[in-house]
Amino acid sequence: VSYQALARRWRPKTFAELTGQEHVVAALTGALDRGRLHHAYLLTGTRGIGKTTIARILAKSLNCLTNGVSSTPCGTCAACVDIDAGRFVDLLELDAASNTGIDNMREILDNARYAPTVGRYKVYLIDEVHMLSKAAFNSMLKTLEEPPEHVKFVLATTDPQKIPVTVLSRCLQFNLKPLPVAQIAARLTQILAAEKIESDAIAIDLIARAARGSLRDALSLLDQAIAHGGGSVREESVRAMLGAAAHDFVYRIADALVAGDGAALIAESDTLAANGWSPAAALDELAGLFYRIAVAQALPQAAAQFDDAARVTDYAAKLSREAVQLGYQIASQGREDLKLAPDEATGFAMTLLRLWAFEPASSEGSGEGTQRSAPPVAQALPRSAPGAKAQPAASNVATMRAAAAASPASTSVTTTREENAAKVALPADVTQWPQFVASLKLTGMAAQLAAQTEQKSLEGNVLTLKLAAAQKHLADRTYADKLKGALEAATGRKLLLAFEVGDATESSLAAQQDRARTKAKEEGERAFREEPFVRDLLSRFDATIKPDTITPIDGDKPR
Ligand SMILES: [Zn+2]
Repeated sequence: VSYQALARRWRPKTFAELTGQEHVVAALTGALDRGRLHHAYLLTGTRGIGKTTIARILAKSLNCLTNGVSSTPCGTCAACVDIDAGRFVDLLELDAASNTGIDNMREILDNARYAPTVGRYKVYLIDEVHMLSKAAFNSMLKTLEEPPEHVKFVLATTDPQKIPVTVLSRCLQFNLKPLPVAQIAARLTQILAAEKIESDAIAIDLIARAARGSLRDALSLLDQAIAHGGGSVREESVRAMLGAAAHDFVYRIADALVAGDGAALIAESDTLAANGWSPAAALDELAGLFYRIAVAQALPQAAAQFDDAARVTDYAAKLSREAVQLGYQIASQGREDLKLAPDEATGFAMTLLRLWAFEPASSEGSGEGTQRSAPPVAQALPRSAPGAKAQPAASNVATMRAAAAASPASTSVTTTREENAAKVALPADVTQWPQFVASLKLTGMAAQLAAQTEQKSLEGNVLTLKLAAAQKHLADRTYADKLKGALEAATGRKLLLAFEVGDATESSLAAQQDRARTKAKEEGERAFREEPFVRDLLSRFDATIKPDTITPIDGDKPR
């Protein structure tokens, strides 16, 4: 049995189960039960305090098949189950900060005006909404000015000041608050009791404090504490765990900065990843150390109050004031930027590299936060590429039919125009599907949809295509209709398209292109490794190559 993270297993599925944010819950449940929902909500607040969870519960409240629109979705109907599993096609979870294959946010927002595919309401959850492009904001504004009945927006941001006033004024805004220590501790106690894991109150309190208002961080620390403590959560072991992540670790980073040793910094970030420590907590500790050093530089006698006074005083002498100020800024900004990184380990490594790149080596330095000259290539290369998270595989396959059954008018036009062209048969087996898809006259998002599909079955005129859960936003009716039109034009037959949302697809055009790209890249890397100059660098600096950093100088560029 694979272990499921506590944060995931204990994600609240109803408003009643939600910890904290009582003002938001009261407003939403009241509005749902009176049938007077606003069409756009803006949730502000830091990470890990329930924005996505609230949006998912709202999506269930609006789309539940058993209980209708209410504040108490059943949790067992197809809509509720699919929303909980993250594969409901009418809940569009978009992250404006990351590029998770969503190339055209504007086009997705344009599609808000079309009816939902399977549900009663289309719910758009847009995280870090302040990072949307201007075009995407304008597109959203068009919908917000005349909101269709079937659309609800849940916008989330850590930085509401960056949202255009025109959008802001059309949203009902809620400020989500960091959870108090007592509330986090109570929730941890409840979960530990349910999991039948032995614990003591001080250990729980230590974890609740270290989480700094984020229940998600608290549960991830609790996971680590259970592993660290061999199945129980005790004060001594939690202290050791939090201490290990915090103190020794920050001193090694400070030592590496004083020595100007970039390779040691990268080694530290690898150690962190290997031990499963929380990058957020580590950056907090690092900012805390810079703060103590700054105090010691301004008021040397005040350093005596710190537990690590001797070390702090030593760093205060070795680092310039400007370097300490800059270090504090980079560490605290890096903490904020974690949520924008492809994954936390990468974000953490980048922050350490930024510290190294901008930090003067000693107090005799220029005193400015000037950038170092380019590092010797092999030395700065990480020992391992962080990240590369596996896609969570949907355990079940959700089928949604009738996506493209509607709008016969548009397809008949296409068919007429293409009538004289030569017709081809649908591929006989899945291996020919990518080639067939490549030959279709499709552009934009419809082409992306086609490229991500795998041919599953053809029964009568029902063509079933498989689509990875991560790409389900492409199965919008607009794109599905375009794909259907192109398929009908090419084959000269009427088709009904059905989509199965499930595991990653292997036999899609996109997967085939990925494999070709990987192969070309591997060949390039092999050639690179065999270069005498590179081999010399590798042996002299005891370095390894980070494959992602190898790019061809001319010819095809990787995407
Ligand atoms: Zn339901």
